[in-house]
Amino acid sequence: MASQRVMNFGAGPSALPTAVLEKATEGLFNFAGTGIGIAEISHRSTQFRAYIAKVADSIRTELQVPSTHQILFMQGGGTGQFATVVLNMLARHRLLYPDLPEEERTLDYCVTGQWSKKAMEEAQRLGGAKVNVAVNGKEHSADGKSFDSIPPHDTFKFSANPALIYYCENETVDGVQYSHESDSPASFPFHLLKQDTLLPLVADYSSSFMSRPINRIADHAIVFAGAQKNLGPAGLTVVIVRQDCIVDVDAAAKLGAMPVPIIMAYKTICEFDSLYNTPSVLAIYVAGLVLDRMKEKGGIKFYEAGNKRKSEKLYAALQEGVDKGVIKARVKEGSRSWMNITFDVLTEGGEARYLEGGIKRGMKGMDGHRSVGGIRVSLYNAITEEETDKLVEYIKEFVAAESA
Ligand code: PLP
Repeated sequence: MASQRVMNFGAGPSALPTAVLEKATEGLFNFAGTGIGIAEISHRSTQFRAYIAKVADSIRTELQVPSTHQILFMQGGGTGQFATVVLNMLARHRLLYPDLPEEERTLDYCVTGQWSKKAMEEAQRLGGAKVNVAVNGKEHSADGKSFDSIPPHDTFKFSANPALIYYCENETVDGVQYSHESDSPASFPFHLLKQDTLLPLVADYSSSFMSRPINRIADHAIVFAGAQKNLGPAGLTVVIVRQDCIVDVDAAAKLGAMPVPIIMAYKTICEFDSLYNTPSVLAIYVAGLVLDRMKEKGGIKFYEAGNKRKSEKLYAALQEGVDKGVIKARVKEGSRSWMNITFDVLTEGGEARYLEGGIKRGMKGMDGHRSVGGIRVSLYNAITEEETDKLVEYIKEFVAAESA
C-alpha cells in the first residue's frame, strides 16, 4: 500500500505513517478486542477510558511533563485555544489580583508570525484586558512587512504583571521558529521574565509538538497543540496546563472576570478526565497509535535527531539554489523552522515549474500558505529521511535546470 502513496509535504493536516493507518483501519472495525469499531464505541466504555489515560501517559513520558501539569484533551483546535487561554488566564489573574485597576490588567503577546498575530487579534477581540505586543517580528524584518526572524532579545518588552505571556514556538505559515539552543539569539528570552512568581507563560506548539523536546516545559503555564501535524488527525487539541491555571472560572466571574463557557474551562475538562462531553474519539485513537510507533522507534530523541538532519539537508540544498540566484530563503539563518521551510523561486515562472515537477515525482503539498504565497515544504515526523533525500535530489536537479 505504501508504494501507492504520494509524498505529502503539506503543512497540515499532514502525512501519517502507513503502518499507523493500517493499524487504525483494524481499530475502525474492532477496537481493543471489543468487536465494536473505535468510531462507534462509547467514550465512557472501560476500554476507551483506559486508552485515553494511556495516551496522556505516553505524552507525559515523551515530553517529560512534570507532575505539576495536567494533560487535557480538548477540541476546537489551536484557534479554540487562542480564546481559551485568554479566558482561563484572565480568570486566574482576577482571583490572584481582584483589586488591580483594570488598566493594569495586560496580556503580553510575542508576535513572530501569522499564528501569534491571529492569537493576539483574538485577545483584542475578546477584550477584558489591554493587549501589549511585547515584540513584533515585522518591525525587525528585512522588508518591514514579513516575518523573517525571531527579533533580538533586547527588543522584547514585557509588562510588569501580565495575565499571560504568549508565544508561538513554530510559525507554520512563515517558517520562523525559536531556537531550542538556550544560548542562541533566536531562543525564547526566558531570562527576561520575572522569576519570583509562577510564570503565566503560554506557548502554541501546534506545528512542532512531538518533533523535539519542549524547552523548559516546567516554566510554562500552558502548552497547547492541535494534533494534526505530528500527532494524528485533526479534531484533537492537546493542552498541557499547570495546576495553578486550572481555576474556578465561576468564582472569578463573580469578581468581574469574563464568564467562561463550560467547555472552555480547564477545570471542567480536568475534573472529567477529558470526558466532560464526547471527545474526538477517533483522533485520540490514532494519536495513541502514533505515540506507540514513536516509542518503538526510540521516542522523541529519535525524532529530534531525524528532524534536525532532515531540515539541515533541505536548507543545504536550498543554499545551492540561493548561491546560483534561483532561490531566496524567506527566513534568516538561526530562526529557520525545522518543520516548515519557506522559500521563493526567483526565475520567471519557476515556482509553477517547481510545483509541477514535484507533482510528477509524487511530491505534493509544497505550495506556500495562501496569505503569503511562495513555496513551503513541511517536514513533519511522518516524512522519512528517504523522502527528504528524494526531495533534496529534486531540488538540486531543479536548481541546475533553472540556472542552465
Ligand atoms: N497555531 C499554529 C502554529 C498552527 O499551525 C495552526 C494551524 O495550522 C493553528 C494555530 C490553528 O490551528 P487549528 O486549525 O487547529 O485551529
